[in-house]
This record gives sequence, C-alpha cells and structure tokens, in this order.
Amino acid sequence: MKLVISQLKDGENPLNFSSQNDSWLKEMGTDLAQEGYQLKGGFQAALILHKHEPDYYLQGNLNFGVERECSRCAESFTLPITGPFNLALVHLSSDKKQKATEVLSTESEELDVIYFDGHEIDLKPIIHEQFVLSIPYNSFCKESCRGICQHCGTNLNHGECVCVNNSKLTPFSVLKNLTL
Ligand SMILES: [Zn+2]
Ligand SMILES: [Zn+2]
Repeated sequence: MKLVISQLKDGENPLNFSSQNDSWLKEMGTDLAQEGYQLKGGFQAALILHKHEPDYYLQGNLNFGVERECSRCAESFTLPITGPFNLALVHLSSDKKQKATEVLSTESEELDVIYFDGHEIDLKPIIHEQFVLSIPYNSFCKESCRGICQHCGTNLNHGECVCVNNSKLTPFSVLKNLTL
C-alpha cells in the first residue's frame, strides 16, 4: 500500500484499513501466517498520517486476534491485540540523508524514526513491523491460568492431578502408620 505524498493534504489524513476491504492487508495476513502468526478474525489498522513536509508523523492503532500458545499451560488460544504506535517519518532525498540523520538523532530520541525517499510512503512494511512489535513475548490463556503440574504434566486448568492428592503421603506419614 503506497501513499503518494502529493495526494495527501497538509495536516491530518485519517486512513482506515481492514483485511475485509483492503487486499494488501489481507495479503499481509498470508505473509504473517508463513512467519508463524496465525490471525483469528479480521485485522484492522486505523491510522492518522500528519503531513508537515518534510516531516510526517504516523499515529496508528492495530486491532486483531492472533493465535498464541499460553506461556504457562502451553495451550493455544486467541489473544486479542490493540496495538497503538507512533512513528516519525522523515522525507529525504538521498543526498541529504546523511545530514538529516545527524540532526534527527539528537532531536527525536524518544520517537522511532523511519526515513523514506521519493514521492511515496509504503505502509506495508511499517504495519508489518508494528504488528510483530505489538505481540507480547509472554501471554497467558487467562489471568488465572494455573499452568501444568511440574511432576506429571497435567493441565491444572482442567482439574487436579494425582500428585496433589498424593502429596500428603510423605515418607513420614507412611512411618506413622507402622506399628512397631
Ligand atoms: Zn494457560
Ligand atoms: Zn501432577
């Protein structure tokens, strides 16, 4: 999805995309599946592109569900994600690139900066990267997930395992029942 910058107006440009209506976002779902991210349901990107030539500023929010494996019990579940992001995009002609990089590196330390050349902004790699960044490293099927028993591997969300009941049978409790 390439935005032709001369067709953008100065100031705010609201842009809304969804995998139902926009084929490039649907295609991205296929790319992501090949990378191991299985989307569940639709994928929405609500963006506002602020144009203040040569600086552009992209505010975005991604909404999607993705299949994940619980970090505690290892079961698959759908994790709903709302991923907000803010990016600065800087329009460069290649000969000025070096100089601008130096200026910006001191100016905008808190904001991720993306540089682009020419007369287009390609949204696809930007959204792709933000998608990956929005997924937490650890995620749980539910807040109260009890995980799996370290002794027998039973998923404790489905019920107690025998280890819990047997834990009262310590070597001492066995001795107690012996009549000497
Ligand atoms: Zn779990
Ligand atoms: Zn167990």
